[in-house]
Amino acid sequence: MTTPEGGFRATVLTLYPEMFPGPLGISLAGKALQDGAWSLETVQIRDFATDKHRMVDDTPAGGGAGMVMKPDVLARAVDHVADSRPKLFMSPRGKPLSQARVRELSSGPGAIVLCGRFEGVDERLIEARGFEEISIGDYILSGGETAAIVVLDAIVRLLPGVMGNVLSGETESFETGLLEHPHYTKPQEWEGRRIPDVLLSGNHGAIDKWRRAEAERLTRERRPDLWEVHKTPQEK
Ligand code: SAH
Repeated sequence: MTTPEGGFRATVLTLYPEMFPGPLGISLAGKALQDGAWSLETVQIRDFATDKHRMVDDTPAGGGAGMVMKPDVLARAVDHVADSRPKLFMSPRGKPLSQARVRELSSGPGAIVLCGRFEGVDERLIEARGFEEISIGDYILSGGETAAIVVLDAIVRLLPGVMGNVLSGETESFETGLLEHPHYTKPQEWEGRRIPDVLLSGNHGAIDKWRRAEAERLTRERRPDLWEVHKTPQEK
């Protein structure tokens, strides 16, 4: 895993480096990794434990269930790789990941991604090293690794040259503030269901109009939160 000059550099701090590249080694992201459009390095947090049992976690101050990852061990791991790249801590308490943040990250030098396990990490580490907490949704995973894979997958597909069809990235859900319109492909009729006539009309003005209307309908029905932000003053 070499670092291409100028490419997006991801460093993942984890107790389970064998989970990487995992899905990121496949298809678009994997091809881009092979081609050097981005690089991925993992750091085994346990390598920075100094006691004879190589402990990375300890019991929570104040009592309670579970274990907390130790700030001293994590700090050594972070300081080993830290540079000017943003430091991200995967965390259900974090700001929900947005396509806007993904786009910003994809135009930067890379990211240092910390994956929690157990109950999480000592709060002082997050503060002292300036981690940005990012959540991938309102549910609890067993560890930050799958969240890190989600974040990196979303970033990598936006890197220059990774997606063959650049246009498809720009009409997709969230890029326009709307959910995307429905898609169809051949056959024209399948199980008695026909592709909407307008899509077969060859009239590109009418097709654009239909797609726009469908995108708005779906957003209104499924994501009133997005619609509230998007709709024009007349629609409000
Ligand atoms: N006790 C914590 C959950 C710990 S889950 C709480 O209640 O908030 C263990 C680790 O999984 C976390 O430290 C985090 O790194 C990761 N994780 C779990 N859910 C996540 C989510 N929705 N988004 C991002 N990371 C998550």
